[in-house]
Amino acid sequence: MPELQKLLVVDDSQLIHSMYRLVLNRYEGCKIFDAMNGLEALDILSREKNFDLILLDINMPVMNGIQFMEKLKKENLYRQVPIIVISTEGREEDTLRALKLGAWGYVVKPFKPHMLYELIEKVLAKKPPFLAATKNG
Ligand SMILES: [Mg+2]
Repeated sequence: MPELQKLLVVDDSQLIHSMYRLVLNRYEGCKIFDAMNGLEALDILSREKNFDLILLDINMPVMNGIQFMEKLKKENLYRQVPIIVISTEGREEDTLRALKLGAWGYVVKPFKPHMLYELIEKVLAKKPPFLAATKNG
């Protein structure tokens, strides 16, 4: 099992944050930071360093996932932190936009945990970007 030590989850649903804590409890000792939108995520990233991964929702108030990624790209911030986009089914254009902006992969909600584990393990192994998983995968 690769070591996942520090993770940032960006999603506007408290339920989703709780779900990630359950799904990711196999990564013992992983410190999980929760942000409810892109702006909160930027704030956390300005204070906390060395994240292994960001799990990013697209649809959020204040600053959505695309706006968050555009900001990172424009300001050349945190380029080394891999991002996996967790998108809602039927929003393929958002997913493509996120991949163009540099997301390493995406998972379509609702997803099975093993799909997320596979992506996380590829990210930790530093496999090339443009990974994808869907609920049928
Ligand atoms: Mg959302």
